[in-house]
This record gives sequence, structure tokens and C-alpha cells, in this order.
Amino acid sequence: MTRLLAAVLLTSIALFAQTRPVYYLLWFDTEDYIDPASDDAALRLATTLEKMGLRATFKVVGEKARGLEKRNRLDVIKALSRHDIGYHTNYHSIPPAPAAYQRILHPLEAVEEFSRREEPGLRDVQRIFGILPSCYGQPGDSWGPAANVALRRWGVPVYMDDGGQVGLNGQPFWLGGMLYVFNLKGYTLRPDINHPETLQATNKKFDDMVASLRAKGGGVIQTYFHPTEFSSTEFWDAVNFLGGNYTPPGDYKMPRRRSPEPAENAYKTLFEFVRHIQSIPDVQIVTARELPLLFENPVQRPSASDARRQFQSSIDMQGPYSAADQLLALLGMEPQYVDGPVARGQTVVLGETLSRILFDRAKLDAVGYIETHRRLPHTVWAGSQRLSLPDFAATLAGDDGGPVVQIRKGVTAFERYVAADTDKNYGWVIHPKGFAAPELLEQARLQAWTLKPARLR
Ligand SMILES: [Zn+2]
Repeated sequence: MTRLLAAVLLTSIALFAQTRPVYYLLWFDTEDYIDPASDDAALRLATTLEKMGLRATFKVVGEKARGLEKRNRLDVIKALSRHDIGYHTNYHSIPPAPAAYQRILHPLEAVEEFSRREEPGLRDVQRIFGILPSCYGQPGDSWGPAANVALRRWGVPVYMDDGGQVGLNGQPFWLGGMLYVFNLKGYTLRPDINHPETLQATNKKFDDMVASLRAKGGGVIQTYFHPTEFSSTEFWDAVNFLGGNYTPPGDYKMPRRRSPEPAENAYKTLFEFVRHIQSIPDVQIVTARELPLLFENPVQRPSASDARRQFQSSIDMQGPYSAADQLLALLGMEPQYVDGPVARGQTVVLGETLSRILFDRAKLDAVGYIETHRRLPHTVWAGSQRLSLPDFAATLAGDDGGPVVQIRKGVTAFERYVAADTDKNYGWVIHPKGFAAPELLEQARLQAWTLKPARLR
């Protein structure tokens, strides 16, 4: 091999490696507003990690932030502020949980109700920590799509948590206009802080994840903990709000504390795990605040002819484009973010075709609705006849410009990325026993018009 060839090879290997970034997120749901020992746990995690040169993301509950303020824990507030700050609801486990109140409301009303209940906590966290939280995540598995709209209004761009309701191949995705780090499946890794002897095996698992992501062109790995896990052996809310139970503040029970030696082992295990990650070249440790910059701009123009071809086989995302992106391209609209429909429309037509005049009116009507409401219509009117959104999209894709338009049946393939109701996605112990939210999964299927992979720059 000539030296020149070797140099060229080396450069291309370096470039190759550069195009395969692996990002790592460490976040803490900082929520225990009952046991003040968890304040000290948060402080120790924040100060030690800072000394180690790492910035984590602390997703703080409103009531926890107010508690820190009341207990005069400026030391904790300052230590956490030197990391990234996210948001984790106003009261976390005091019933009703977010999924419980969202599921019985009309989706548009659910947004207003989510705002009424959750915005005051966000503003308290913002005031106390001096920064608008960078991300949100639901308590337990109490996920619901109303959060997306409210978060966008507040200027919070990232949804970061774990859950099974929606997922896209174990990597970040866009849904409801939010950047989701959610349902990372095999790419969520937690060292077992109660069994330090398993750390070696966990480190090896991390290495394997890095290798697997590099082979796929890069990606994201996350670890989450709760400061309270380092101070207690049981969850603060499980002893007070189990199964939807309400305990008034005067009757709060303390969670069982960890004894000193297991507590030391827990910290040591996490810090050693982090040190291992820091030792791997090219794994970049990031916070939620940095995430939007790492991914491609989600507003891009798909080619109308590609969209036409895609919709004629099935209504699905294609490459980096959501079904909604493609529908806008077919309608000749500027690329922009719009919500999915709030309901499932029904097709009610007189025959198998529509006249050119009626269908062109229907198209104009759809554009008008989308421009006004920034949302896809569930039904598109053609005179007194009407098409469901999928049928309209399929018909539009198949329209050859002739004097009559053949009505086609649309099948929304992207719904497969939303969990089935039978998957037990709402089994959080704080929800009332047997709690389910099929209404929210149905809303997720409708909002999946906006679903698409988040692609690293
Ligand atoms: Zn939580």
C-alpha cells in the first residue's frame, strides 16, 4: 500500500467514524417531595458528577422544586442548576395522574386541562432554577398526547422518558412536533445499584450497544435514575399514593431509608459505570437541552411524486418524512409542522367517483382547514359527500387529473408503531388497579400521522 493510499484510507476511516456518533444521556427524575433525604441524594449526585466533568439532566417535579425552596436548600438548587433542568409534572403522583384525566376528555380539551394542571409547576421550576426546562417526561407510564401541544406552546422541545405507548426502532423520533427520546428499548441501560458485582457485565452490555449503534450509523443510549433510589429502598409515592390512593400532606409516610453501606455501594456503582462510559472514545455525553441541535431539522419538503407513490401502496412515513409531511406536499402546501386529526372520520359518498369540480373544492377545503387550525382534518368535504382523511389522502395520491376522480380506500400503516391496548402500557402502580387508557392509544394512532424518525445530523 502506498503512503498516499494509506493516508486516504485513514482519512476516510476517520470521516466514517465521525459520521457515526453515539450520544449518551444520563437523567434523574427528581420527584420525591416527601423525604428530605432525597434532597441530599440529588446534591451528592449533582456535585460528584460535576466533579467528574459530566452534565446530567435533572427532570424536576414542581412540588419538589417548591419544597427545596421552602427547606432553604439553595445548595441543592445551585448544584442541580449547573446541570440541565427538565420538568416532570407539578405533583407527579397525587391523583388524578395525567393519563387518568386526559383519557376522558376531548383531545383539544385535554390540552387545556394539561396546561391548567401542569403549567404552574413548570413556571415554578423555571423561576426556582432560573431556566425554562429543556424537556418533559410523564410520571410512571402516565403518557398522553395532550402534553405535546402544551409543551410546544411553552417552548419545551424535547420529550424524554421511557414508556411503551409509541416507539420507533428503539431510537429517537418526532411525534406531535416534539423530539422524543422514548421507548429506546435495548438502548436504555441501568446498572443494578443494589448488585455492584454485576457492573462488569453491565459495562460490557454498554460496549455492545455502542458497537451496534455505530454499525447502524450512530444513535442514542440513555440511563435514568431517581435521586430517591439512592436514599430509600422503596418509592416515596408507592407508600403514599399506591393504586390511586390520596394521602393528605399531614399524613405523608416516609419511605424506608437505605442503610449507609448499601447507599455507598449504590453511588459507587453508578459513578463507576459513568467513568466507564467516559473512557470510551467518541461516545458523547449530552443533556436534553443539546438534543435538538444534534438532529436534522424536521421541517423539510418531501418530493410530491415520492409521496404519491408511497400513498398509493400504503399511507406510511417514508425516509425522514411523516405521513403528514407527505400529505402537505401532495396538496402543494409549504412544509410545516401540523398536528394529526383529533378523530377518525368516516367516508360517506354516493358512488365510486367524484367530479373534478367537487374534488378540487375538497382539496381547497382541506388546505383551508390545515392553514387555519394547523392540524389535519379528520374529514374532508366534497359538497355534501365526505371522505375520511386516509381515504382523501389515497384518493389524492391516485388522482390522474382526469374529469372524474376515482375514490380510493386509504390504509394508515404508521399506526403499527403505536402499542395495542392489550400491551398493558398503563400498569404503573400509582394508577388505580386495572387502569387502562385505550382512548389515549387511539389518539396516539391519529397523531402518528406526524411520526417519523429523528435523524442525526
Ligand atoms: Zn417519576
